[in-house]
Amino acid sequence: MTAQIINGKELSQKKREEMKIEVETLRKQGITPGLAVIIVGTDPASQTYVRGKQRACEEIGIQSLLIEMKESTTEAQLIAKIDELNKEDSIDGILVQLPLPSQINEQAIIEKISPNKDVDGFHPINIGRMMTGQDCFLPCTPHGIIEMVKSKQIDIEGKHVVVVGRSNIVGKPVGQLFLNEHATVTYCHSRTNDLKAYTSQADILIAAAGKQHLIQGEYVKRGATVIDVGIHRLENGKLTGDVNFDEVKEKAAYITPVPGGVGPMTITMLLHNTIQSAKRFRA
Ligand code: NAD
Repeated sequence: MTAQIINGKELSQKKREEMKIEVETLRKQGITPGLAVIIVGTDPASQTYVRGKQRACEEIGIQSLLIEMKESTTEAQLIAKIDELNKEDSIDGILVQLPLPSQINEQAIIEKISPNKDVDGFHPINIGRMMTGQDCFLPCTPHGIIEMVKSKQIDIEGKHVVVVGRSNIVGKPVGQLFLNEHATVTYCHSRTNDLKAYTSQADILIAAAGKQHLIQGEYVKRGATVIDVGIHRLENGKLTGDVNFDEVKEKAAYITPVPGGVGPMTITMLLHNTIQSAKRFRA
């Protein structure tokens, strides 16, 4: 068996074309969705991510405002900037690029963003709403993953989803989203004994451990759906994931590639949340 690829780049393009039309409709009503992106310091990876998000906004007509703050910025200065943006009517979404310098408490910052502008979906109010199945901003990477699985009409209800990783931004919320879709969910993490015993039972396996090629062919059940969240840069400059793609594609029924899988979908869901915010609170 050679797995069918779930192409995140293609799916993203399709969704972004639809979003362009939504933005155009809003613009005709005098509303241009706006996203503010705050970056503190000069971390090269963060700068690349921020540029990618800005480019994606421009492509579909969302106004993006980049706020660059010095590495030495204090928590109080960053909070003052967030307060300002919380009050600014033309801004529908506020994103603070993580990680932040060590003098700033990330959780304190996340909690200062208005839940109505929290397009990353990290604020405890949005997380609580997600857990209780209410309308909210869903975190972008988990939301993108669910959309990818649904795009292939893969059954979720009653299926066994195994999540490898329990971070607040990927592992925990993605498991919750699958639970909301009536899957049976198992979480594995760095202290799980005998990881393979769990992953090899998965109908849908989500690899989000941040460990290059942790998931080998023998970790996967024949016919499974395998979603690779990991991003690792190889010495030759190419990107790879948490999954050994060449081995696993011979056993899985569906697989996401790296690059061109979950990554583009994450940005697409950020655009989605920004448009939803403009619709919800301004239209
Ligand atoms: P993290 O480091 O915060 O969390 C990793 C999790 O994996 C932890 O819960 C840990 O317990 C678990 N883990 C680590 N080693 C393990 C092992 N050997 N066996 C089982 N579990 C193990 O990472 P994160 O922020 O959740 O990101 C995970 C990966 O996804 C990273 O490679 C990151 O770059 C990538 N990522 C990609 C996107 C995207 O858009 N594609 C978005 C976010 C993160």
